[in-house]
Amino acid sequence: MRHPLLVIGGGLSGLAAAIRAARFIPEILLVEKHSRLGGLNSYFYRNNTLYETGLHAITNYADPGDRQAPINRLLRQLKLQRKDFTFCQQMQSEVVFRHLESLTFSNDVGVFNTEVRNKFPRAAVRFQKMLDFIKHFDPFLPSPFRSTRCFLAEILQAPLLAEMILCPLMFYGSSRENDIDLSQFVIMFRAIFLEGMFRPLGSIKDLIDLLTCHYLELGGHVRKNCGVKKILTRKNSAIGVELDDGEILECDYILSTIGHEETLRLISGTRVSNSTNLTRLGFVETMYQLPQQSPTTLPKNKTIIFFNDGEKFLYENPLDFVDFRSGVICFPGSFQGIPQKSMMEIRSTHLANYGKWKHLSTTPDQYSDKKQDTARHSAQMLENMIGSFATNIVYENTFTPVTIERYTVKINGAIYGSPEKIKDGNIGYPNLFLAGTDQGFLGIIGSMLSGVSIVNQHILPKL
Ligand SMILES: Cc1cc2nc3c(=O)[nH]c(=O)nc-3n(C[C@H](O)[C@H](O)[C@H](O)COP(=O)(O)OP(=O)(O)OC[C@H]3O[C@@H](n4cnc5c(N)ncnc54)[C@H](O)[C@@H]3O)c2cc1C
Repeated sequence: MRHPLLVIGGGLSGLAAAIRAARFIPEILLVEKHSRLGGLNSYFYRNNTLYETGLHAITNYADPGDRQAPINRLLRQLKLQRKDFTFCQQMQSEVVFRHLESLTFSNDVGVFNTEVRNKFPRAAVRFQKMLDFIKHFDPFLPSPFRSTRCFLAEILQAPLLAEMILCPLMFYGSSRENDIDLSQFVIMFRAIFLEGMFRPLGSIKDLIDLLTCHYLELGGHVRKNCGVKKILTRKNSAIGVELDDGEILECDYILSTIGHEETLRLISGTRVSNSTNLTRLGFVETMYQLPQQSPTTLPKNKTIIFFNDGEKFLYENPLDFVDFRSGVICFPGSFQGIPQKSMMEIRSTHLANYGKWKHLSTTPDQYSDKKQDTARHSAQMLENMIGSFATNIVYENTFTPVTIERYTVKINGAIYGSPEKIKDGNIGYPNLFLAGTDQGFLGIIGSMLSGVSIVNQHILPKL
């Protein structure tokens, strides 16, 4: 059978793109290399317990009545009802630059405004000017890279405040070392500080299952354990794909969500040279589980803490395996309305050096020891900020950039993909387009919006 559209990759951008297309066109096919959908945001089982691979929080919270909000527009585009979801809002989150300053924020933007006014009174007026700029700026107009660091230096003239604003936005959405494109900054600032964070009441599995059922009900098809080995082309047009087992699938259009360079590598006969010299960023994350009733003094009302303990906030590829001086601490159970479980979870994330981890992974024992060592070191760092918990840990699991590379085939295991984005999804073929991480919208809502917008822009008008 010939498919009108074949979507490569069953992560959240691929799922959203496939649903959007299946609303209007029959026989859409989604192919996923792994046995589960979800991509970077998926789940696994250990000892009969489901663990999410890493969901911290979903950005872009909005009330149901706010029709223009990205989350509500996304649901409408996918023909999903807001009432089918229970969204639990964050409690409070914080940016902490230890020994210097902290800024609390929540889904009530007034909290952040007051914090900035109280802690940076001399920058308060300029901060309002920045908010006005963010309100009126259109980040979706195609534009070349513009440095946010330069923009903030000029508009705020408060270096510490600028670094503290950048820290969460970079950790949750910058693929580029030490800076972030101004358009991406505006999108992320609105998503995190103006709209806010939430998570679904259930697990990421429930969300993926709901999206998959909806897609199947619309008549779409899914094939898992179905890796694409080659994208077949004729006269500079895509004509289909060859799967890992040699099967050929024909199609009119292809939407790839696996990354720019990753896609070019699949195109038969294409010689791929590194599209950019910029470094791809890797991360390590450890999930610690401890009994809920552990005798700890952990904060009860914090959802996420973005921290920096270094003299300067460096968002760059570390020289060593991990840069423990900065990172993210997440309490996935600390959302409003989430029922207390018998176990509680803490997650810690830091920047990590892919090359060092990759080299070590050739000696499995040393790699495994280093992961344990990383988990210990990270826990010590966290204890300085949130109080002791390490003696109560009953289970822990650490991923490295090599884990990400293994499970999603992302080059260098870079969660946020290439530092250079293809904002219009056009990679030089009339019927092969790019969506997802390398199109430029990051995170769960961002990647889903990316899938929808590329289908709207390039596929639906032609089919
Ligand atoms: C640990 C972790 C925690 C995160 N936490 C959050 C969070 O809390 N909030 C948030 O908003 N974002 C979070 N993110 C980021 C978010 O998950 C991603 O931005 C988003 O899911 C990217 O989706 P995607 O579809 O673009 O890419 P991916 O999820 O990478 O999907 C691509 C899919 O393509 C498949 N694939 C690759 N090659 C082939 C091939 N040749 N053939 C077939 N299939 C192929 C892969 O297996 C994968 O399933 C997190 C990411 C990680 C890794």
